Amino acid sequence: MDFETRAIHEGQEPDAATGAVTTPIYQTSTYVQEAVGEHKGYDYSRVANPTRTALQLCLASLEGAEHGVAFSSGLGATTTVMHLVNPGERVVLVADVYGGVYRLTSQVYEPKGYLFDYVPAAEITTNLAAHLDERTRLVWIETPSNPMLNVVDIRAAADAAHAAGAILVVDNTFATPYLQQPLSLGADIVVHSTTKYLGGHSDVVGGFAATSDPTIAERLYFLQKSLGAVPGPFDSWLVLRGIKTLAIRMRQHCENARRIAAYLDSHDAVEQVLYPGLAGHPGHEIAARQMRDFGGMISFLAASEAEAVELVARTRIWKLAESLGGVESLIEHPARMTHASTAEAPFAAPRNLVRLSVGIESVDDLIADLETALVRSAASAQTQ
Ligand SMILES: *Cc1c(COP(=O)(O)O)cnc(C)c1O
Repeated sequence: MDFETRAIHEGQEPDAATGAVTTPIYQTSTYVQEAVGEHKGYDYSRVANPTRTALQLCLASLEGAEHGVAFSSGLGATTTVMHLVNPGERVVLVADVYGGVYRLTSQVYEPKGYLFDYVPAAEITTNLAAHLDERTRLVWIETPSNPMLNVVDIRAAADAAHAAGAILVVDNTFATPYLQQPLSLGADIVVHSTTKYLGGHSDVVGGFAATSDPTIAERLYFLQKSLGAVPGPFDSWLVLRGIKTLAIRMRQHCENARRIAAYLDSHDAVEQVLYPGLAGHPGHEIAARQMRDFGGMISFLAASEAEAVELVARTRIWKLAESLGGVESLIEHPARMTHASTAEAPFAAPRNLVRLSVGIESVDDLIADLETALVRSAASAQTQ
């Protein structure tokens, strides 16, 4: 079946007891047993819950994975996957990794004796092998990355990681399985913050990991129940509901982003637009090869940090807020907001960077709102 059909039906047979078309929210912590150990596959909701099972089956299918494991947040998924690594082992991450992941690796795991190296996206694509050694257990990439929209060649990264005996994890939050399926390009694990496009409505925090490797899957299921970062039934249901419209939302996010990137690219008050859909983007060709379309995230460089900070507070439809991937358009200043935790990192977000999460409102309204904010920018720059 095609993606759109699986997004709506996979793992979601009508309820056997009542015929309910929509998967019920099984708001229960425990399940009655016929006799000791005799039950219908559910004994305690940290271990398994039917609403969560439906979500895991559906999302695994969309990623082309044999197994899916849902978590309470993207970082819950990340920390669980990091438990595949032992102290003394090395992890190589893409340099401009998500700020929260960097905080986790640098301030939680590194003091415990885990080793981390951060390698720029272009270097991972062309020369990852030179950064791997026998202690390297895992390579962690995002593509496109947050907030710089750097692109990594997933196939090249997977080949180099495997040749060195490491596994490749791809954070697919920006692309979603509708635009990019990392497992089909050789990745071993794909992770998500389902808070973003998968939930899609800025009303839930969640995470997910998928794999087709049975040994990794078994370990992840074990870690899911043992570490306990599980999503509740209602949160699972919200993500499940969001996914039903993922394909149609992503098409509109991409369409709007394409128009807005072109508009910004020709604007005098904008120094540089970072969007993989632009022919001049360094990752454009790789993105065109491994993605169905270029996504709904755009970053751009304003004339100065002061301009960037003022600009993001000037828009009306674009809301000044962290997070991304919802139906509503958001604007933010990564250096002071989402990526403040990387301020001391060698790959800190530029101080004049503005990040846009392009929503699915009327693109004309979105451009008009940006135009008002940018014209005021240009005017204030002239009077300085
Ligand atoms: C938001 C985000 C995360 C973290 O997910 P949470 O659900 O906020 O814990 C990880 N990676 C990327 C790329 C993100 O955008």
